[in-house]
Amino acid sequence: MKGLVYRGPGLKALEDVPNPRIEAPTDAIVRITSTTICGSDLHILKGDVPTVQPGTVLGHEGVGIIEEVGDAVQSFKKGDHVLISCISACGKCDFCRRGMYSHCVNAGWVLGHTLHGTQAEFVRIPFAETSLHRIPEGMDEEALVMLSDILPTGFECGVLNGKVSPGCTVAIVGAGPVGLAALLTAQFYSPAEIIMIDLDDNRLEVARTFGATKTVNSGDGRAADVVKALTGGAGVDVAIEAVGIPTTFVLCQDIVAAGGTIANVGVHGAKADLHLEKLWAHNITITTRLVDTVTTPMLLKTVQSRKLDPKKLITHRFKMKDMLEAYDTFQRAAATNALKVIIQP
Ligand SMILES: [Zn+2]
Ligand SMILES: [Zn+2]
Repeated sequence: MKGLVYRGPGLKALEDVPNPRIEAPTDAIVRITSTTICGSDLHILKGDVPTVQPGTVLGHEGVGIIEEVGDAVQSFKKGDHVLISCISACGKCDFCRRGMYSHCVNAGWVLGHTLHGTQAEFVRIPFAETSLHRIPEGMDEEALVMLSDILPTGFECGVLNGKVSPGCTVAIVGAGPVGLAALLTAQFYSPAEIIMIDLDDNRLEVARTFGATKTVNSGDGRAADVVKALTGGAGVDVAIEAVGIPTTFVLCQDIVAAGGTIANVGVHGAKADLHLEKLWAHNITITTRLVDTVTTPMLLKTVQSRKLDPKKLITHRFKMKDMLEAYDTFQRAAATNALKVIIQP
């Protein structure tokens, strides 16, 4: 079969790779019908994630049809339409029993990381019973690809950890796919204001159509002053960091109101300053988290009932044979206006 293979920092290729086989009785083999590319895949390609071995098929998002299941898999059978979670979970270890699937000692983020991923014709899913979700009849498959990773990530790490609540003021720093996913799901709780902050005017424009009440281009370095002015000098109750660089984490510290929460979502590769000399008496909370995908079944229902429309995050579509073009388009997002790209056989 064909798969998008990581070949070391800066190197990738669409290659012939062996078809996956059942290796444990808890495995399932899924034939991919839609997948996508994540910002994390670009981090891997830069060489930022050394735990990914050259030769690994990338990808941790997708939807497909079950081709085969191991002897211990009872909830799924060949032919079932399933959503693949970016986090695989054994369901039995101490962390899984606490709902912290991302810290599962037997799995966690393994797809496209330590195991071959979803950017291929087939993928082996470990612990299939607790790592796949059945797709109800008649649902839009493309929309559901957004539920593998970005929607639960924006919701769990940003909105839930940030304690977004009715009437509160929220700022989301970073209007990429995950920041926009936080924007969409924050609206479950009816905040009074959602201020979107980014360097890219196109993404800010998109954020307006997704429900941002105000947008701030941070290119001039004055975003903190603007947010303070927009909030009567108080700052925001919830500052969601969805970029992952030191300056955006510091910006969150500059705009969080007394008693507020900074919810970090971004993947940080470098150390960032924490200004305790300003914040020690400010009653703030800082949260960090890796997505556990515990909210995926709930998010599935909100898509099914049309309370949430994640399909609007999709800007481009490609065939699997054009995967390299899909990467190029996603990588040059500032020029191509790409948010999420859908890749299908
Ligand atoms: Zn991802
Ligand atoms: Zn576990």
